[in-house]
Amino acid sequence: MVKIVVLGGSFGGLTAALELKRLLGLKAEVTVVSEENRFIFLPSLPWLIMGWRRPADITLQVADILAPRGIRFVHAAALEVQPESGRVRTAAGELDYDYLVVSTGPRLVFEEIPGLGPDKGYTDCTFTLDHALQTGRNWQAILENPGPVVVGSAQMVSCFGPSYELAFEMDAELRRLKMRHKVPLLYLTSEPYLGHMGVGGLGNSKRFMEDEFAKREIKAVTGQAIDEVAPGEIRLKEGAKIPFKMAMLAPPFKGVPAVAPLGNPRGFVPVDQHYRHTNHPNIFVIGVAMAIAPPEPTPVPVGVPKTGSMTVKMAKVAAATIFAEVEGAPLPGPEELAVICLMDMGNTGALMKAWPLLPPRQESYTRKGMWAKWLKLSFESYFLFKMKHGLSQLP
Ligand SMILES: Cc1cc2nc3c(=O)[nH]c(=O)nc-3n(C[C@H](O)[C@H](O)[C@H](O)COP(=O)(O)OP(=O)(O)OC[C@H]3O[C@@H](n4cnc5c(N)ncnc54)[C@H](O)[C@@H]3O)c2cc1C
Repeated sequence: MVKIVVLGGSFGGLTAALELKRLLGLKAEVTVVSEENRFIFLPSLPWLIMGWRRPADITLQVADILAPRGIRFVHAAALEVQPESGRVRTAAGELDYDYLVVSTGPRLVFEEIPGLGPDKGYTDCTFTLDHALQTGRNWQAILENPGPVVVGSAQMVSCFGPSYELAFEMDAELRRLKMRHKVPLLYLTSEPYLGHMGVGGLGNSKRFMEDEFAKREIKAVTGQAIDEVAPGEIRLKEGAKIPFKMAMLAPPFKGVPAVAPLGNPRGFVPVDQHYRHTNHPNIFVIGVAMAIAPPEPTPVPVGVPKTGSMTVKMAKVAAATIFAEVEGAPLPGPEELAVICLMDMGNTGALMKAWPLLPPRQESYTRKGMWAKWLKLSFESYFLFKMKHGLSQLP
């Protein structure tokens, strides 16, 4: 029996584990190791901040998904991968593997910017459930006692969508409450221009964002690196100071410590077209944990996003590759990744698509309409249903 260990219990880890068990059945012993025992539908965290979702609406217990399918779950942090001996050291003991699938997401490195972050600094964050809950409380405080709000992304971020969504949602909500004039909104970003999103734009996304921000009077400051944050003030590297009452700033990303030694200087792991580690072919790395070189140099460094849909696709390719290797069958062919992003804009929505991921592209556009918001709402229900029932074979 082939021993497969999967690190991470989110988009990538769960999809890979379910696919591997589905494909290999009794030929594989699949173990998922995750320091979080819930699957959290991260794309809904901006809605949670706005008060439109509760944690119970967007979370599932990982054990409930895995146990009925005969997949073992170890609720513990992986501490170290030992590729030479095929072993993972975890907080709950050691595990041997024939194949390892890593989908441990990002480490949020608030400490790279003094004063950044909700724990030791003065800013909010959207990226974890606990941080989003705290941001939601601060948003309620703004509604009670209005003042300037800054939303955006620091240098070395590789997920820009949630900040755009929050800026649009805050604007729409403030207008609904007839208090937009009391809350100046500023979008601060490391992206070289609005709509860059870490991938050199998606079709007309630059003009689209500029027009939407102008219509909604959301000011934008682009191409900026943050030097430090003091109480009520963001200090940019180029010297300007931005005052705020509430600031939601996405922090720089790195790979998590347990797998960072397998990767580049920022801890993201280089892989081949099957998502196999370039030096250890029995280690697969998918989702945010893997390395993709940016499409172009930018004055302030930004990372390439690895979206949920990309991560699910990577998980399926990794699982199909392991299945083929175990069965002695030909490996599946390479598949181009695409960015498909449904962006909520509060009172409407947009579909952003780029294929392939990096320019030059065959297809690339941004389109707005209420239908995009409805698609996003439906996708949340669909994806939670799919994960709850372990239906990883669905798109
Ligand atoms: C606020 C927000 C909004 C988003 N909106 C969208 C969207 O609209 N559309 C879209 O396509 N994508 C969206 N994304 C991106 C999407 O959520 C990610 O692409 C996806 O979560 C990546 O999955 P992953 O498995 O690589 O990592 P993650 O989802 O980050 O999961 C990592 C997992 O690994 C676990 N872990 C970490 N370290 C260890 C360790 N040492 N040992 C064991 N377990 C560990 C974590 O607990 C977690 O379970 C959004 C992301 C955020 C944060």
